[in-house]
Amino acid sequence: MDLVQKEHERLSKRLKASQGIKNVQSSIDLLQSARDSIAADPTQASITLAKLQNPVKTSFDSINDSLKETHSGLNKYTKSLDKLFKDRPLPSTEHDALSSQEHLINRAIAMHLLREGQFSVAATFLSEITEKRAAVHAPDAKFTDHGINLLDVDEVPSTEIRKQFAAMYYILQEMQENYNLLPAIEWSRENREALEARGSNLEFELSRLQFVWLYHGASDQQVTGISGRQAALEYARREFHSFVPRYLREIQQLMGAMAFCSNLQDSPYGSIFNNPSAWEDVAHSFTREFCSLLGLSADSPLYIAATAGAIALPTLLKLQTIMKAKRTEWTTENELPVEISLPPSYLFHSIFVCPVSKEQATDQNPPMMMPCGHVIAEESLKRLSKGNRFKCPYCPNESHFKDARKVFL
Ligand SMILES: [Zn+2]
Repeated sequence: MDLVQKEHERLSKRLKASQGIKNVQSSIDLLQSARDSIAADPTQASITLAKLQNPVKTSFDSINDSLKETHSGLNKYTKSLDKLFKDRPLPSTEHDALSSQEHLINRAIAMHLLREGQFSVAATFLSEITEKRAAVHAPDAKFTDHGINLLDVDEVPSTEIRKQFAAMYYILQEMQENYNLLPAIEWSRENREALEARGSNLEFELSRLQFVWLYHGASDQQVTGISGRQAALEYARREFHSFVPRYLREIQQLMGAMAFCSNLQDSPYGSIFNNPSAWEDVAHSFTREFCSLLGLSADSPLYIAATAGAIALPTLLKLQTIMKAKRTEWTTENELPVEISLPPSYLFHSIFVCPVSKEQATDQNPPMMMPCGHVIAEESLKRLSKGNRFKCPYCPNESHFKDARKVFL
């Protein structure tokens, strides 16, 4: 891996240092100015052309030189890549769960492109799917709108999804490139009710960062003529009143920091004002909330699936080798014979199935833990206890319904 990295660095350094593009541009400039001067004075044409010969030749030579260099760099890089990733067949199973779900895969790809802000690529992708479907299924264009419907999320139609993603991308761009939090704050204000119902702090997080940003010397985009601490104070006075009931402590911290302005770094509030990941964090929580209000997960499912697949790949390759060597086969569909451990952030929807009723727990029928530590669903617990002391179905301990506690997964 080190070798690949080294070659990659060398290559990109060489490309950056390379004069190739500059030489091409200067040749173009030379030719254009020659054309202009000939057009202005046709009698001088032969002299102009003669003057052109040498410089054009030199710049062609240097273009070729830099091309050669780039080629040799590319060669070395591909060779080191080949060395690292030996040509081995990918693990395969008889049962390909994805082949029958083409539309889901297409949807994941299109959604991923939209999430990344690649709107025109997504549009082309969708229209190509539509054309392909139309050609395969019905030339009468019965399916022409299929590409658009592909993106429907529950009740939200595709056109709305696209519009929403465009809005999200704009807000993120303003935040990350222009340090402008106002569009995000406005969005969170418009969706305040839904966000609060989710227990989200987004609006306050954004406003707090705006305060910090002003404090560090930015100028207020809404009130002209003030910047720095004065702007921060003015902002707090204007915007923070609605946060006071819920975030009094946090606001007090922000105000307390004012007293330490000459030595903020060593004050108890230093970490609030000098958090290097503050912008990234707030952008991430914004994306998460925005997607969740649309009924989508915070991270692109395609990205997660591909990363999880990459993590699983070495194990799968090993498994295939072993299965071949031992001539065994794994026949259970949709299930792997080995466990593949993923990082905690890749574990989703912990579900609980009651060992008594074999039903999956829900909000109405949550898992309950008895004092002995065994967990069953609430309905099973009610059925077993009938209001009296009862014996745990899995151990000799006895308990009462009221001793059981709800388990949060
Ligand atoms: Zn028990």
